[in-house]
Amino acid sequence: MGKLERRSWAEPFKIKVVEPLKITTREERLKAIREAGYNTFLLKSEDVYIDLLTDSGTNAMSDNQWAGMMLGDEAYAGSKNFYHLEENVHKYYGYKYLVPTHQGRGAEHIISKLLIKPGDFVPGNMYFTTTRLHQELAGGTFVDVIIDEAHDSQSLHPFKGNVDLQKLESLIKKVGEKKIPYIAVAATVNMAGGQPISMENIRQVRALTAKHNIKIILDATRAVENAYFIKTREKEYEKKSIAEILKEFCSYSDGATMSGKKDLLVNIGGFLALNDNDVFEEARNMVVVYEGLHTYGGLAGRDMEAMARGLEEAVHEDHIRARIGQIEYVGEKLLSIGVPIVQPVGGHAIFLDAKRFLPHIPQIQFPAQTLAAELYIDSGIRAMERGIVSAGRSKETGDHYYPKLELVRLTFPRRVYTQAHCDVTAESVEAVYELRNKITGLKMVYEPKYLRFFQARFEKM
Ligand SMILES: *Cc1c(COP(=O)(O)O)cnc(C)c1O
Repeated sequence: MGKLERRSWAEPFKIKVVEPLKITTREERLKAIREAGYNTFLLKSEDVYIDLLTDSGTNAMSDNQWAGMMLGDEAYAGSKNFYHLEENVHKYYGYKYLVPTHQGRGAEHIISKLLIKPGDFVPGNMYFTTTRLHQELAGGTFVDVIIDEAHDSQSLHPFKGNVDLQKLESLIKKVGEKKIPYIAVAATVNMAGGQPISMENIRQVRALTAKHNIKIILDATRAVENAYFIKTREKEYEKKSIAEILKEFCSYSDGATMSGKKDLLVNIGGFLALNDNDVFEEARNMVVVYEGLHTYGGLAGRDMEAMARGLEEAVHEDHIRARIGQIEYVGEKLLSIGVPIVQPVGGHAIFLDAKRFLPHIPQIQFPAQTLAAELYIDSGIRAMERGIVSAGRSKETGDHYYPKLELVRLTFPRRVYTQAHCDVTAESVEAVYELRNKITGLKMVYEPKYLRFFQARFEKM
């Protein structure tokens, strides 16, 4: 511990309500995973012990948020909770206009339809599943412009989410600025392992795009976590508050899509935030068609209130330090026993490097899918594949994408599990690692058309 120079901190909350966990036997788990087609998305939650599938909508709300739920103003139009949310989005993210949506992809749908024309190109610092799909459904082509280090699970670059300005510039040269409505910048980058982008980089992206009249649409889903990394890794921000860093970061963009189910400590909700009045007017017209009236966007008043309050709690320094501290704690444990993980550890998850964990399983036998299933069988911990299954198929050739990164994501919900759960998790990974040579791959026996990782089914080779 001396090496880490860490005075212990504990979770900055005490527990008022508990939800008992079910502990299953190995036989029960073998049966459950077989019935789920070796896809952890198809497991029943009640068969899961520690659920690290996702940090999306799985957060524990505070007493203050629950109190806010009782103050839901369920008016069809002009709910006071909408105005509270609008005020807080403006205060903490800085954008002028707010369009609430039922969750992040609702906002992605609207902004993609509004800004992308068939034949356009949308650069981004790596893709996110729903984001890229909405861009493609609108007729756009996604182009990855993240720095090369992001694709290297061994690179220790402190900001692996950075945009490669040269890649962006050569795309602009190649297709012309008129064919690029915006660049989609994610902070932090989920698919790269929760890796942050630096303030310096977003500033440079702003300078370059401004010259070419290209907008920046931020995926702000985990921008608070990104702010924490800026504070701890970018010298000039050391003394700034998380709230100050967040606001400055957003100021370099023209708008943001947001999944409130992550940073904002709620179970459902999202929004589109904008600075341009014309785009806002169109967005708020379109939200009526797809989500609901512009003052609720598919949410109940109480959900908007919980999100407005979660937003205030999300930027508390002790909250965000403990949130990311928990991930760092598990990461240090796994590294100390030699388990291959993506480094540096990201903001919301530990990513096991399945290619190095199971080097004897070729990518077409789905090593990450396999590893996630094995973890479940060992202990009832539920993780998620982030590799060839999640990457999907090319629109043109119909072939699998073969991503460089073949990962298993152990994602930590906010404020849900304790340090003891973290210990149990690390021990289970270690147990599977010790038996890794005996593990065999999978074959896909059912493949849905869209976002196949959610519903695909597999059998043991
Ligand atoms: C979850 C997520 C989304 C989509 O949001 P939903 O609320 O799940 O629709 C978009 N981008 C990132 C980075 C995400 O993590």
